[in-house]
Amino acid sequence: MNFDPTPEQQQLRDAVAALGKRYGHKYFVDKARTGGHTDELWAEAGKLGYLGVSVPAEYGGGGGGITELAIVCEELAAAGCPLLLLVVSPAIAGTIIARHGTPAQKQRYLPAIAAGTEKVVFAITEPDAGSNFHRLATVAHRDGDDWMISGRKCFISGVDEAPYVMVVARTRDAATGKLAPALFVVPTDAPGLTRTKLDMEIVSPENQWLLYFDDVRVPADALVGEDTEVGLPALFTGLNPERITVAAMGIGTARYALDRASSYVSTRAVWGRPLGTHQGVAHPLAHAAIHTELARLMVAKAAALYDAGRDLEAGVAANMAKYASSEAATQAVDTAIQAHGGNGMTTDYGVATLLGGVRAGRIAPVSREMILNFVAQHVLGQEKSY
Ligand SMILES: Cc1cc2nc3c(=O)[nH]c(=O)nc-3n(C[C@H](O)[C@H](O)[C@H](O)COP(=O)(O)OP(=O)(O)OC[C@H]3O[C@@H](n4cnc5c(N)ncnc54)[C@H](O)[C@@H]3O)c2cc1C
Repeated sequence: MNFDPTPEQQQLRDAVAALGKRYGHKYFVDKARTGGHTDELWAEAGKLGYLGVSVPAEYGGGGGGITELAIVCEELAAAGCPLLLLVVSPAIAGTIIARHGTPAQKQRYLPAIAAGTEKVVFAITEPDAGSNFHRLATVAHRDGDDWMISGRKCFISGVDEAPYVMVVARTRDAATGKLAPALFVVPTDAPGLTRTKLDMEIVSPENQWLLYFDDVRVPADALVGEDTEVGLPALFTGLNPERITVAAMGIGTARYALDRASSYVSTRAVWGRPLGTHQGVAHPLAHAAIHTELARLMVAKAAALYDAGRDLEAGVAANMAKYASSEAATQAVDTAIQAHGGNGMTTDYGVATLLGGVRAGRIAPVSREMILNFVAQHVLGQEKSY
């Protein structure tokens, strides 16, 4: 077991941290408050190769794995810039296309995802299906060579910033007649695709949308992979990187909050000595730091298993990492606010601005309850309860 990063990984970590520091949490919050997007940071990260670290080198990426992408997610979040679309465009869409796309799809999308010039967002969640993936009701049927897609999706992040959305829709298998999920890359300006912005209580420049697909026509090559059978394995390919990178983002956010709190309590002295000398203040921060580090180890393990192609083990580890990280991040941000007293709730001190984001991390992309269900069933061997 080697806990040391490679020199290249350490270099990447340092370089991304330096980039994040140049922008910082104020940049992120200002963009969110003014309805802007983190375009400058995204473009710079793309130019420097950070968005494409996990994209194969032949398509303009860095040729690394999810370990490298998790480093990017963690370090930007640790600088106060938790960019959710990293989890969506390079982690989900990029990985799915790299593993399951046709040669033409790889050529078309991967260089742009790696360079950050085009984002591909991801739509699976539906209002009436929620956590129950078996109830997905968005369907795609053939019309000549084309596909027609109809249905609704909700909470879809970043649709306003992306020219494409990768959509999970069910198609009818010709042999069995059963509906199975398939993936389609759909232009976000396709006729028949409309959207409504959801008002969210999260301070973030990235927005969530309701999408309506009303007979959206896409050509045959919008289907990811050579045929519809690619759908299910492709979907599973995307879920582990999503969980791992979202977990890494949670770790970065926890580190950011704990950094802020540590520097605050080491200088503020209301009883003559710094607040950090009071164990009632320092211990909760230490507790949160321990849980953050534990979750961080789990993220590294999940990423290593995924990059080694050990998908089944990676699935368990990715779920556990995501659970541990979202709990640790929520605890770290809450504890950091407490350590700041009233200042913790101000915008200036930049900690309460993270509350909505870390809280949402316990719900999305998969809720803590669904992870507990998964672990109870697949690790502890309990009967499925739902
Ligand atoms: C900020 C944010 C960004 C998002 N971005 C995207 C995106 O880009 N693309 C996308 O497709 N989706 C996105 N989502 C959606 C997200 O994946 C879902 O919200 C999440 O999967 C939960 O589904 P739901 O909201 O329908 O909750 P529900 O399924 O309605 O669940 C509600 C509650 O019941 C619990 N519950 C449900 N079933 C069970 C059970 N069997 N046992 C125990 N408890 C259960 C859940 O854990 C949850 O606490 C985003 C959500 C948020 C908040």
